[in-house]
This record gives sequence, C-alpha cells and structure tokens, in this order.
Amino acid sequence: MFRRGACPALSAPMQTGDGLLVRLAAAGEALSADSVRALCDAARRHGNGLVEITARGNFQIRGLTETSAAALAKDIAAMELGLRDGVPVETNPLAGLDPSETANAAPLAVAIRQAIDSSDLKQRLAPKVSVVVDGDGAITLADIAADIRLNAVAATDWLVSIGGDRQTARPLAVVDEEVAADAAMAILEAIATQGAHIRARDLAPENIAAILSEHFASSPPHPAALQPPSPRGGEEESRYLGLVPSPLGERTRAGEGATPHSLTDGRFAIRVALPFGSIEAGELNAFLDRAGEIAELRFAPGRAAVLLCESEAVALRLRDLADQAGLITSADDPRARIFACPGTQGCASGFIPAREIAREVATALPADLASLHISGCAKGCAHPARAAFTLVGTENGVELVEGGTARQTGEHFGKGDIARRLAGLMAARRQGKAPAKTARTFEQASAGD
Ligand code: SF4
Repeated sequence: MFRRGACPALSAPMQTGDGLLVRLAAAGEALSADSVRALCDAARRHGNGLVEITARGNFQIRGLTETSAAALAKDIAAMELGLRDGVPVETNPLAGLDPSETANAAPLAVAIRQAIDSSDLKQRLAPKVSVVVDGDGAITLADIAADIRLNAVAATDWLVSIGGDRQTARPLAVVDEEVAADAAMAILEAIATQGAHIRARDLAPENIAAILSEHFASSPPHPAALQPPSPRGGEEESRYLGLVPSPLGERTRAGEGATPHSLTDGRFAIRVALPFGSIEAGELNAFLDRAGEIAELRFAPGRAAVLLCESEAVALRLRDLADQAGLITSADDPRARIFACPGTQGCASGFIPAREIAREVATALPADLASLHISGCAKGCAHPARAAFTLVGTENGVELVEGGTARQTGEHFGKGDIARRLAGLMAARRQGKAPAKTARTFEQASAGD
C-alpha cells in the first residue's frame, strides 16, 4: 500500500485511534504563510481537520483514510513545498540567520543530505534513524535525540556523538566540518551494515573502535568514546523528569511574552507554540489570515513555529495576535510544559478527554511545574518517555504514574477535581512531603522500557 520514499507526505503514514496520520518532514523548512494555509486546507479536505506540530518540529495531519491519504499526497505533491523524504538531517530553524549561533549548521546539513541522496542508505537504514546538526543559538536542538549528533563547539569545529540528545549521546571526537560530514556518513554506513533495524545506540564497542580508527585517526577520540554508555544514555532518556524546557526558550518574567529575536538579514523572529502541539486547521488559518504580514514561517522543536517578520513592531503585533488566538506566546505558560493527546475527543482508544483535562489543569498549576503528561490510554502517544507526573486513562479510571511512562502501572487517581488534587500533590512533592508511592528508581524504570 504505502511505500516509504514514495512521497514525503506518505513516507510513514501511521494508524492511530483517529485514522491514519501523515507526518511531513517540515522541521526548520522555510514555508510561506500561503503554503501553511494550503496544508491546513488539505487537512480539512482530507483529514479530520486537526493539525499538529511535533516535538521535533514536523507537521502532522490526522484522521485520514487510505483513500484520503492518497488524495492528500497528490495535493501536497502539487504544492511543491520541497520537503525532504528519507533520512532526516535536522538543523536549527534559524541556521545561518541567527547572530547567536556558534556555527551555521546549514552547509554541513546540506553536505550530509547530498551524500545520503547519492547513496543507498535510505533503503538500508531503520526508518527512525536520524542526524542532528546543531549549530546552537537561540533555538537549540539540545533536547532532540538522534542517532548521530554534530554539535558546534566552535565556528568550524563539531563534536560528533551518537545515540541520544546533547546530554545523553556518546561523544566520539571533535572534528572540522569536512571530516564531520564524512564521519556522519561512515557512522550511517556502520549502522546500516549491522542490519535494517539497528540504531546507533546498538553499535558494539568494536564497531565504534573501527569508526574511530578509520575516520577520526587525526582527531583524538573523546575520553568517553569507548566507555560503556551511561545508564541514562540512549534516545528514550532524552526527555524530562524535571522541569521541561519551554519551547519558547529562556524563562521570561511572569506575564511577559516571547521577545523578538533580531536576525542577521535584518528581519525579526518571534516564536509561538501550539498548546499540546495541536490546533484545528481552521483556527490556524484564521490566525494566519489575521496576521497577514508573516514573511516566512518555520516549524521548530517543542511544537513551535517561528514567524519571520520584516520588523520588530510586526513581530510584536504577531505575538499579540497569536496570544489572542490561544497560542502559547510566553515561556511561562504552563501549557508549554504539559503533554496531552486528544484522548476521547479524537481517538477511539482513549478512556479520558486528555486535552480537556490538560486545559483545565494548566489553569491551576504553577508556571514552574515539573513535566506532566496526560494520556488518553496506556499507549502514551503524546510523550512516550518518562515524565515527573503522568495521568493515564484506563478502563478502570485514571491512574497516576510518578517518574515513569504511560505504559507503567500507576496508583488509582480518580476522575474528580483532577486539577486541584494534582496541584496539591505537586506542591507536596516540591516541599518533600508525602513520598511518591509510585515513583520508581531510574534503574527500575529503565528495566520496564
Ligand atoms: S495515547 Fe491518546 S492518542 Fe494515543 S492511542 Fe491512546 S488515546 Fe489515542
């Protein structure tokens, strides 16, 4: 039916509780407001009208059937958005425009993409294998896990690491840009050689030693390169048991909105985020219609979008319009730190209206809340990893898991007055009261994954 690589729009349609879901590899791509409007129109025409920006900054259209997904693919192909298919090579959405970046990640990413395109790696690698090229700056990819990470440590120097986010990936060596592209390709080749389901974290020490001797001969290996991975290593542990970083960057003073970021080409960028990563396509279009003056739009990590504007005044005006449209415009908005799937309001597998509960909970919780995941069922689609607090809908009611995932068994929590009781529980935990009955040690939690 669907063949990987047939079309960007259909590279990996997934069956979900509300039909097929299509994910477009749009992270960081420069799109016009008209292009996003056209995507939203297509989502309304062919899907259930819900669109999403993912944690990595990709764009999703939900509620499709096999027939409508094929029609959507045709429509999207006609839009000629230039979206890529195959192995994701992700960069900072403002790469090359951000005066605060350590290095421009775009040329290195382009070199790696071209090398992949002229190889057969796309057919040989596991579907989720990805590369992150992080030049740092205002929008970092530090929390994005990848099989291969290239992190700028100086204008021309890149730390190559594998299997995790910036904190958890295993560092191999620091190399210059030319070697970095070759090294990334060599690691991808090593992964593909081990098998079609292998990820970078599966590479054995001898594989890593071979990569180091063949491709980093002139660069001293990082001291941690051949050590056993930390028990916190691996992609899954890229998420948060503590305070969730806001998709809008550094915390602002209470009530203060995101600040426009001046770019090297004289324009200004303002970041806004979708509450729980989701919005009705019609609502997003209504915002774009009101906004009018968006020069360019780029989807960003953390379920966010960066609006590029010709002046600071326009950026501030768009921020206010986004606020009025119900989007997240302040790093202090608690919704930025809550993960929630549609639950019963959009998914046949749900036992609770997860997003409705999340909206209610967000009004009762402090801005500095730890990570909270509200999941319609034990599948945990909105946040597969651990969170400080996870509320899960089950056939027996609501369960609370502390320090774990939606797939773990929690304590019965009851359905009534969830927001107030959760706020009380979080306050108690912060004060060190009432030890967490359901908290697992990290090792126990890891064993359950
Ligand atoms: S976690 Fe949410 S979206 Fe996923 S299957 Fe369960 S109810 Fe549906």
